[in-house]
Amino acid sequence: MSAPRLEIDLGKIEHNARALVGRLSARGIAVTGVTKATLGSPEIAQAMLRGGVVRLADSRIENIEALRRAGVSASMTLIRSPMLSQVDRVVAHADVSFNTELDVLGRLSSVAMQAGKSHGVVLMVELGDLREGILPADLEHFVSEALCLPNIALKGIGTNLACRSGVVPGRENMAELSALADSIDATYGLELEIVSGGNSANLGWGFGSTKMGRINDLRLGEALLLGCDPLTRQPIEGLDTDAITLTAEVIEAKLKPSLPWGEIGQFAFGEPPPVADRGPVWQTILALGRQDVDPEGLRPPTGLTVLGASSDHLIVDHRPLRLPVGGEVSFQLNYSALLRAMTSPFVIKVVVGGSRAAPIAATLDDRSVPSNCPDPRVGPPAA
Ligand SMILES: *Cc1c(COP(=O)(O)O)cnc(C)c1O
Repeated sequence: MSAPRLEIDLGKIEHNARALVGRLSARGIAVTGVTKATLGSPEIAQAMLRGGVVRLADSRIENIEALRRAGVSASMTLIRSPMLSQVDRVVAHADVSFNTELDVLGRLSSVAMQAGKSHGVVLMVELGDLREGILPADLEHFVSEALCLPNIALKGIGTNLACRSGVVPGRENMAELSALADSIDATYGLELEIVSGGNSANLGWGFGSTKMGRINDLRLGEALLLGCDPLTRQPIEGLDTDAITLTAEVIEAKLKPSLPWGEIGQFAFGEPPPVADRGPVWQTILALGRQDVDPEGLRPPTGLTVLGASSDHLIVDHRPLRLPVGGEVSFQLNYSALLRAMTSPFVIKVVVGGSRAAPIAATLDDRSVPSNCPDPRVGPPAA
């Protein structure tokens, strides 16, 4: 089979979705399945839907359009604020969009009016992570403006944490979002349908708390695909962490000195060259580089260490044996590595299964080792 390739086990993604949907529904929280790391893969979207997510969401209208073209009819939310230049496409293909700017809401309204449609909006609130969001003090004004716009249906409010600054979702910020929903409902005589508390980084709060307040939705991507809690990097109990693997092919394997020789100048990607002389090592080159994956986000199998990476070469040390040229190595991925591999035109995507028992061909794939999720997106919460 051709390499590099991502092998995607749909049965495991469906299982992860079902497990999270079940645990969260016991707390009154629905799951929105986030497909943005999958480049609009209809197979993965359908696996999430089979697992029970209530709707799909993506950050790119291009991905939502791809899902529509593939015949996916589920409700879809654009979870990045629409660009003014794409408002027509957003109204045409997304049922709901996340918003933080009145100029955009105004355009959504006029385009929806022309199209004879109603467009749903969720207003995003800034609660400290300093990415997108309306400041809490400005929210009432936004709501009153949104309610006046024809063909705009205010569906709810939401927030997003732990992405730009690593702000941990917890009791206080979730209670603040809840209180904002209550206050909007009281002021305007509404009953907001969606109060969306956050992403996979909210699961620690979601499983730990019994006071969910008004929060009734989480938008989950990473947890469904990788089975990991991004805040702690730990596998989430009962979830599969090996639904997606990346396999690369060996193109050189030689016993080489561990230290470079000659005058050392600038190196292409900012990593310092090795300084410790470990004697000769079985240096193996895989046809996999920064154009295919974020090498820092690879979790190698036992016995293999990543020594360095350039645009097209991944240099690894494999012991104790020489890997044959043409042999294959399979890695697990963190979110950053997954995102790049999924969106790289050089990486082929092979979808397997639909059932949990579906076999996956791989030669050096260390599936027997219990999985330990690679690199957290942010550090563990301070003790
Ligand atoms: C990416 C994203 C999500 C999903 O995040 P995961 O960590 O993959 O669960 C949810 N909400 C917004 C606004 C996002 O951009």
